Amino acid sequence: MRLSQLFTKTSKNVPADETAKNAQLLIQAGFIHKEMAGVYAYMPLGFRVLENIKKIVREEMNAVGGQEVMMTTLQPRDIWEKTDRWDDKKVDNWFKTKLANGTELGVGLTHEEPIVDASGNYVHSYKDLPFYTYQIANKFRNELRAKSGLLRGREFLMKDMYSLARSQEEHEQMYERAVEAYYKVYDRLGLGEITYRTYAEGGIFTSRFSDEFQTLSDVGEDTIFVDEAKKVAINEEIMTDENLQKLGLNRSDLVQKRGVEVGNTFHLESKYTDALDVYYADEQGEQQSIVMGCYGIGVSRLMGVVAELFSDDKGLVWPEAVAPAKVYLVRIGGDDAVKHADELYKELKGNGIEVLYDDRDERPGVKFADSELIGIPFRVTVSDRLVEAEKYEFTPRKSGETVELTRSELFAKLN
Ligand code: ATP
Ligand code: MG
Repeated sequence: MRLSQLFTKTSKNVPADETAKNAQLLIQAGFIHKEMAGVYAYMPLGFRVLENIKKIVREEMNAVGGQEVMMTTLQPRDIWEKTDRWDDKKVDNWFKTKLANGTELGVGLTHEEPIVDASGNYVHSYKDLPFYTYQIANKFRNELRAKSGLLRGREFLMKDMYSLARSQEEHEQMYERAVEAYYKVYDRLGLGEITYRTYAEGGIFTSRFSDEFQTLSDVGEDTIFVDEAKKVAINEEIMTDENLQKLGLNRSDLVQKRGVEVGNTFHLESKYTDALDVYYADEQGEQQSIVMGCYGIGVSRLMGVVAELFSDDKGLVWPEAVAPAKVYLVRIGGDDAVKHADELYKELKGNGIEVLYDDRDERPGVKFADSELIGIPFRVTVSDRLVEAEKYEFTPRKSGETVELTRSELFAKLN
């Protein structure tokens, strides 16, 4: 990736219509483009970050046996009527549209109904269960407020997984395995330490709690109460004496915090499968209900959280796992520097190291400022002086501390 050819540019100005830091930084650095409130397009750098997050999520869902699918955005009314979730009074953030002939359609905001409906074609006997299936796709929700940048979109990327099990016991095991996979995702994103499994409302169909995954942040919209020793939390929404007792939590051990909900997992019991008439026959040929779980992760919200939390007064500070490249290569000076930097660019790429090459004819100050705004983990500088000394400047974005390295030292650091 050569900066001279990248079609986005950084901007000196903080976008005036954004109050959220994640959106300000991501727009200024050219990662995302705002179409309208709560609706963002991903430019080349932002797309790379999103793809890196998707890759982590995908690997962890595949590791528990998740089978990836792609469901449809356009939704027929009838399957949602079977579960009584079509009515705007029941679900108030649907976007809906109409065919030319007047038939009403929904614009996908979650996918329990279509997943169960499709499963009905294939699931007949106990041999067809259990399984996990998931997708990573845009969801559409008519959110009342969309002022938090990527944290709350009207169009946003979600990973939604569903488990279909033959018994409550089998469901419980699958549910806990999915939760384990969630911890791995947040760990790999560098959020493990500050993300809490949080007891929350279970949804309209069950008396059980759901598990939210809440990342601590002052910009979070949720109030949660954290038990540091147990590493769990409870959402304010369900914080009653009765629930605390049920969960074995003591009010005096809890500390009030703000959190961003980066995931939510639910016990759906047999509500959806029964409503859509999807059952299985057990070994005796008796019809049985299917026990279902669902598991959401806010993929684009996570990108916003990472941008928001890993940043400083100069710009973004991407963790290596999601950064759009590993090295920001700066070239300063004349023909010698150009030649050396071009060679180094090729060689790094040849070693499988992703490089954003600042090959523009800009002043060093501009290049350094952009490298800090864009937030690639390591900056490597090639200049006429350094070429002469057979050295490279190496500056981790996080510490900002520059050291001079020989070629072999540089490769040792980056490999
Ligand atoms: P919220 O309470 O924040 O509105 P939700 O509980 O309605 O979210 P879920 O239906 O549980 O959301 O969706 C699963 C995950 O998708 C959430 O945990 C969150 O990370 C993400 N998510 C939900 N709504 C949005 C949104 N408008 N923009 C970005 N991500 C979202
Ligand atoms: Mg939720």
